[in-house]
Amino acid sequence: METFDVVVIGAGSGGYPAAIRAAQLGASVAIVEKEALGGTCLNWGCIPTKALIGAADLVSRIKHAQALGITVQGVGVDYAAMIAHKNRVVAQLAGGIEQLLTAHGVRQFSGVASFRDRGTIALSDGTRIGAKKVIIATGSTSAEPPILPRHERVVESRRFLDLERLPERILVLGGGFIGCELSCLAALLGSKVTIVELLEDILLALDPDVRHSVRANMEKNAGIRILTGKPLEGISADAKGVRGEFGGEPLKADLLLCAIGRRPVTEGLGLENIGLMVDARGYIETDDYGRTRVANVFAVGDVTGKMQLAHFATSQGVTAAENACGSRLRRNETVVPNVIFTSPEIGTVGLSEEEAKKQGRTVKVGKFSFRGLGRAVAVGETVGFVKWIADAGTDQLLGAAAVGTHATELIAEAAAAIRGEFTAREMGRSIHAHPTFSELWMEAAHSVHGEAIHAPPRKK
Ligand code: FAD
Repeated sequence: METFDVVVIGAGSGGYPAAIRAAQLGASVAIVEKEALGGTCLNWGCIPTKALIGAADLVSRIKHAQALGITVQGVGVDYAAMIAHKNRVVAQLAGGIEQLLTAHGVRQFSGVASFRDRGTIALSDGTRIGAKKVIIATGSTSAEPPILPRHERVVESRRFLDLERLPERILVLGGGFIGCELSCLAALLGSKVTIVELLEDILLALDPDVRHSVRANMEKNAGIRILTGKPLEGISADAKGVRGEFGGEPLKADLLLCAIGRRPVTEGLGLENIGLMVDARGYIETDDYGRTRVANVFAVGDVTGKMQLAHFATSQGVTAAENACGSRLRRNETVVPNVIFTSPEIGTVGLSEEEAKKQGRTVKVGKFSFRGLGRAVAVGETVGFVKWIADAGTDQLLGAAAVGTHATELIAEAAAAIRGEFTAREMGRSIHAHPTFSELWMEAAHSVHGEAIHAPPRKK
């Protein structure tokens, strides 16, 4: 049996960077993947959705180009060709991961891995590999409630992303980020979309001003019907379509997309053979260094149930690899931006206003609207705003949110400023190039003190 310094289980956003980092540090490394290199993010998540949303966004811009003096006739959408584009992107990037792993000397195994004991991993084809340290990066999969009918008209995000044709009417169960992104994608391409969310609002983790702005635009501009605060009941599916009921109102569609959340992947891993228990929700508990309760076993990514984001999984993976290979422990980063590719886009980082208040902090908020920005007006992208949340006493920036064009890119600057412990004053004094969308952050920082140049004075 061949033994490696580090064996990584799962080659998604957490696993493959962990393997590469451990190899960079001189360890002998093996990685085991049961399905596809790149995991959920590359094959069934971030990248496929963004390939399709990018295309849908372009369609929407072309349709609205008249405001800029461009007349376009007959915009056609070939959805099967969009899916083919998405598949080419995925294949290209998966090939890149394979090359990187090979170039770093990481041994790749295909199959399902499970623990025989703390130092031995068994693969589904009978191969056994020895491991001094193990990093579990087995990710998560769509949660599907048992009450949903098993029918081809009822899909979760992975199957949705492989449809060759977009249905005319789609019912989306769940108003979290996956449900909202896929709803915007389908609506921009012409489907009639209805979202049903049991909770009082969609995207409930966001501050009310942020989610209300997004919701209003999804309803008005993308034409999505959003029903909240009650469950979808009496769900059925047959050859004619799917049906359900919301507060007594019958709803009909051609497809039901279930997007109610994710569940960790741990079954078949043989955790019982190493005495590692999962928590009440099925996740593997880890400390800030990526360590589990078993001394030589680390866990990273979605399976830890912390923040289910690709870049957080990668950061955790790199940290765990460094801690598995070295003696000086490194902690996980805590400033984690979150981006949502709805229409309009959303970016958040650090504390939300509501979280800061719940923590008992006294905060000051500075906002600036796209409408007040020269660049935004020039290109006709005036929907949305950015906001800073700063500590009222020290002026330190604690959190930020952006809604609008490029919000998913804009949030990077806010993350760097928070990580660098900037104050609102420092951010306001940092010169931003004109005319750019980044000036929003400078104006919003001045606005924390009521001193934004391009906003009317605050009412006393
Ligand atoms: P995964 O990427 O799920 O990888 C786990 C891997 O482990 C898989 O390849 C699996 O096959 C393998 N595996 C599991 N068990 C075993 C076993 N026993 N043996 C061998 N291999 C095994 N995040 C963002 O940050 N931005 C986005 O825009 C974004 N969009 C998303 C859109 C959708 C539709 C979805 C579903 C998710 C999205 N995410 C996004 C979340 C992101 O995909 C995940 O947070 C990320 O993939 C987690 O990485 P991971 O390595 O923990 O798990």
